[in-house]
Amino acid sequence: MSIRIGIPRALLFYHYLPLWETFFQALGAEVILSPPTSQEILNRGVRLGMADLCLPMKVHLGHVEVLRDGCDFLFLPRLVSFSPDSYMCPKFLGLPDFTRAAVEALPPILEPLINAKVKGKGLQEGFVEMGRSLGSREDRIQEAIGEAKRAQARFEDLLHCGIPPAQAMGLVGCRSPRAVAGGKRGGTDLPPLAVVGHPYNLYDSYLNFGLLDRVREWGYEPLTPERVDEGETGAGMAAPRKAIYWSLARHIVASALHFLASGNLAGMIFVSSVACGPDSFCQDLLQRRLRRSYPVPYLSLTLDEHSSYAGVQTRLEAFLDMVRAREGREGPLGDR
Ligand code: SF4
Repeated sequence: MSIRIGIPRALLFYHYLPLWETFFQALGAEVILSPPTSQEILNRGVRLGMADLCLPMKVHLGHVEVLRDGCDFLFLPRLVSFSPDSYMCPKFLGLPDFTRAAVEALPPILEPLINAKVKGKGLQEGFVEMGRSLGSREDRIQEAIGEAKRAQARFEDLLHCGIPPAQAMGLVGCRSPRAVAGGKRGGTDLPPLAVVGHPYNLYDSYLNFGLLDRVREWGYEPLTPERVDEGETGAGMAAPRKAIYWSLARHIVASALHFLASGNLAGMIFVSSVACGPDSFCQDLLQRRLRRSYPVPYLSLTLDEHSSYAGVQTRLEAFLDMVRAREGREGPLGDR
């Protein structure tokens, strides 16, 4: 029987599933995913996490708890840095330790260290070490890494072409992209509306009440940070006087500025979660830039475990009314 590796359907699952799943499967392991986020998973995470923990980390704990009994190993990488000039948010640095402290009776954790700032501690080395700890031969590990990187590169290319993540995961052979938001591709001639934020806030359709599909139903094409790569955001990256420290936040701001610079945005929604330090900086930076240079309708949508469908719906309708008024069209609330 093959080894079962559990991957929580949370955090960077939404960006790195093709890399992770392909690697483990190429080594002959079976990948077990937790089910899509539900009220039960959210409640478990809220019970396990400290009150002032950000929502995505609470959700992660809920996923770990439902996954722990069905796998032989849990995969929780210790992500420090993907490039020599930036860091991940500190919560990713301590993810294995913090999860161990919060959830009891965990299976052994596979926790490769990925730290591009230290020579010999990059993704390649982290995965080699992990493959060895699973008892795989050196040549198979190298092949598995190559296959995994190719799958991830194909996935990212598809995202840049505007293929939504759920569809892109399916196209590169991932299982169960179900309930990853953004499964339907909109018409390419729809007016663009930027929806920016961390991938786990944008693509967990339970947490954001199906926001991306809602934007398409309104008749706009949602532009998310995954649609642009770092080469394209060159101007956006250079825009803040001081480079943003956290890699995901840096890409969010750079892609938002890149979308704004295109000059044809119908509006922008920033999706964040309560208690997120990087989001509070990014939002302030973007709002200042919008006030100064880009007069487009802007909505800051902050999620927490108390968010309700009615509350989010009301805010979205008011925002859409503003977008349509600016276009000279009637919004969902009509003339008031
Ligand atoms: S970036 Fe924000 S939302 Fe993401 S893990 Fe860090 S604090 Fe939480």
